Amino acid sequence: MFEFKIDDSGQQQAPSGGLYDLAIVGAGPAGLSAAIYASRDGIKTLVFDKSSAGGLAATTDWIENYPGFPEGISGPDLMDRMQKQAERFGAELLEFEEVTQIEPVSKGHLRVHTASAEVFDAKMVLLALGSHPKKLNVPGEEEYYGRGVSYCATCDGPLFRDKDVVIVGAGNSGLQEGLNVLNYARSVTFIEFLPYSIAEKILQERTMNHPKSTFYFNHMLTEIKGDAVVTGVVMKNRETGAVVELPCDGVFIYVGYTPDTRFLEGLVEMNKWGYIKTDAQMWTGVEGLMAIGDVRASNLAQVTVAVADGTKAAIAAREYLAELEV
Ligand SMILES: Cc1cc2nc3c(=O)[nH]c(=O)nc-3n(C[C@H](O)[C@H](O)[C@H](O)COP(=O)(O)OP(=O)(O)OC[C@H]3O[C@@H](n4cnc5c(N)ncnc54)[C@H](O)[C@@H]3O)c2cc1C
Repeated sequence: MFEFKIDDSGQQQAPSGGLYDLAIVGAGPAGLSAAIYASRDGIKTLVFDKSSAGGLAATTDWIENYPGFPEGISGPDLMDRMQKQAERFGAELLEFEEVTQIEPVSKGHLRVHTASAEVFDAKMVLLALGSHPKKLNVPGEEEYYGRGVSYCATCDGPLFRDKDVVIVGAGNSGLQEGLNVLNYARSVTFIEFLPYSIAEKILQERTMNHPKSTFYFNHMLTEIKGDAVVTGVVMKNRETGAVVELPCDGVFIYVGYTPDTRFLEGLVEMNKWGYIKTDAQMWTGVEGLMAIGDVRASNLAQVTVAVADGTKAAIAAREYLAELEV
């Protein structure tokens, strides 16, 4: 039996237990959208998240391209609304519970194992695991993590008011979050491996024209230095080999994302980067098992795409569950 758990806010309830129609692993936009559709349809749904609900989108300061919010919406606010919407229709949410194994038992029966050695049974499972930030693997990165090094400017950026900040990576995520940090930091220096930015033009214009920003293109960060906390970075010009040392107080790393699918090796088919292959209906090829959102092998990692995947999967789930009854 699952023990009653209470999180920091005292909110979490024990799951009702028994055989769930649908288990969803991951409470980001993909998982929560599927949960909204499924639970509204009367499908008994349990959603797991190894962290708090909201996924990567909840670590994003401001989302301007999600339809329906002409002025944009904060990532945490958008995800809080999705969570409430799913719970309103009866989806059960289990936060801080990592799924470690999916065990196919029989047609219409999959078993979900978690890190706290609990076991849950469901007729089908949606994998909505998303992805997590890649590391640079340079000296100082691990040592100063939490002491000036961070992968989430939305979470930790306000600690750097009137400080000098480095953002590694000038893609969409780096520039979007850099814009946020520019609101309060004294300076923001962007370091990009490529000779150019691959971010949306609107983000490039806003950051590059900002009086507090500096860009180093074609530079590779090689070391993060510090004493008790971060004091600077070292980078290398990839063309000339010249080494530049830059004092700073904080380093935010946005150099891409990678899925955490090792526990599924041997069960589902993945591409060489570990993203799960599916058909157009989100089926993985394993009976009763689907994958949706960023964890799926597709070249678009956006909230709208995750939401659409979740919608398609929930509708396919309804049909699958109905067929099981026949
Ligand atoms: C800085 C930044 C800015 C962005 N800006 C935008 C933007 O402006 N517009 C836009 O459309 N998109 C944006 N994105 C992309 C968007 O956030 C993602 O595409 C979206 O969050 C993907 O949703 P998802 O549900 O597939 O995965 P995620 O949001 O990553 O959620 C996956 C969830 O699964 C959980 N999980 C993983 N493994 C397990 C496990 N084994 N057991 C239990 N739980 C697990 C994780 O904890 C996580 O909560 C941005 C991303 C970042 C990082």
